[in-house]
Amino acid sequence: MKCCERVTVVGGGVSGTTLALLAKKIGHPVFVSEKDKLSPERKDLLANAGIPWEEGHSERALQADLMLLSSGIPPYAPLVLAAQKQGITVIGEVDFVAPHLRGKTIGVTGSNGKSTTTALLGYLLAACDLKVAVAGNIGNPLADFAFTPYDYIVIELSSFQLHWSKAFHADLAIVTNLRPDHLNWHGSAASYFCSKGHLVELKKPSAWLISQAEALNLLPPCDLERATFTVHSEREGVDLPNRIILGERTVLLERGGKRAELFAFRDLAILGHHNVENAAMAMAAVALLGEDVSRARGALASFKGLPHRCEEVARKGGVLFVNDSKGTNVAAAVTALQSLNGKKIVILGGRGKGESYELLAKAVAEEAKAAVLLGEEREEIGKALRGVGFTAFCFVSDMEEAVKYAYNIARPGDVVLLSPACTSWDMYSNFEERGNHFKRLVSELA
Ligand code: ADP
Repeated sequence: MKCCERVTVVGGGVSGTTLALLAKKIGHPVFVSEKDKLSPERKDLLANAGIPWEEGHSERALQADLMLLSSGIPPYAPLVLAAQKQGITVIGEVDFVAPHLRGKTIGVTGSNGKSTTTALLGYLLAACDLKVAVAGNIGNPLADFAFTPYDYIVIELSSFQLHWSKAFHADLAIVTNLRPDHLNWHGSAASYFCSKGHLVELKKPSAWLISQAEALNLLPPCDLERATFTVHSEREGVDLPNRIILGERTVLLERGGKRAELFAFRDLAILGHHNVENAAMAMAAVALLGEDVSRARGALASFKGLPHRCEEVARKGGVLFVNDSKGTNVAAAVTALQSLNGKKIVILGGRGKGESYELLAKAVAEEAKAAVLLGEEREEIGKALRGVGFTAFCFVSDMEEAVKYAYNIARPGDVVLLSPACTSWDMYSNFEERGNHFKRLVSELA
């Protein structure tokens, strides 16, 4: 990329403006094209840097040598198609920024568990007195970390970012798990898995790959078996030289046939068996990077997890309230139901992603004593529950009613779990707002 090349950044949100500022710093003439409106803060940032912008895409956006896409811009966006037709090079955020990162990179992707694993790994490496950046989809745009030297840059990568990532080589790649998701954007499950696969295909030849065993089967084949560590339960009789073993109470790393304990379950402060898996992958990364495992182990107890991910909210009258508002797809809600101890009263529903609720209904029938259904998808979820013969559910009109109803029927030892299996966009602006509302309602219960 030559610095005189004219760059149009598509998207004027947080990731787009940060990219525009970086492109300008590198020396490119930059223009920002936003489909809708730019926020006043974004306009100020661009104006201060002398970067022109437009609200609503126009022909002006195509007067460029390079079209730089902020997170989430799909390949079928008309502006992208027009640019490609004109022979303008189209590049994604990761490929643009990566050459300017200074430090070893760890890419974390997967359908669920990305943010938790990214944050935890960053936390553990920082506890080893290393200079660490936690970046990417987790809410810290990658471009903000360019040119600053770090020991490690832990990057959460979404399938959208990876779709456009054709040249980024991570020093260590983690794939937490894979289930079909974002099918509207990708068009098919195969194309979604293929995007995720870019992280694995392109990792450096000497780099490690840590993956859930099931996920590995869904990724494009890679010839890096010797450097691959998959997660297995103790009971699985797999014969692999490299693996991460989830035992009854401890997690072990087996490398070239030799075993070493990574941590014991009791070392962890975060709830749920899925978080044992996330911690197993993060701790295995610490070990494979050659960092201090015992210091990292000592830090596990003080990692309280991220808000809205199986977050313990309160205990009232012996009832535990858990906020898993980030459980926005079926796989996440099923995981939360299966990995928390105790009988659950689960609050489900919101705006659907076009998924089938069959697996969710089965998990509810096995793990919950009741379900409270709200939002646009309540009828569909109710239908799936009836389909598996589960009738202990009711419809409510909002979160307030849901929390009150759940609390009324809960008995000591039960768990009231908000893990909606749906997005929040029918009732809230995002999952954080939904989770915060749930937490406030719980705090107001007598
Ligand atoms: P992501 O960033 O991939 O959305 P998060 O760490 O934010 O993942 O977790 C989102 C939800 O996914 C959690 O609330 C939990 O219900 C579920 N989840 C987290 N870790 C895992 C895992 N290892 N396997 C399956 N589901 C998980």
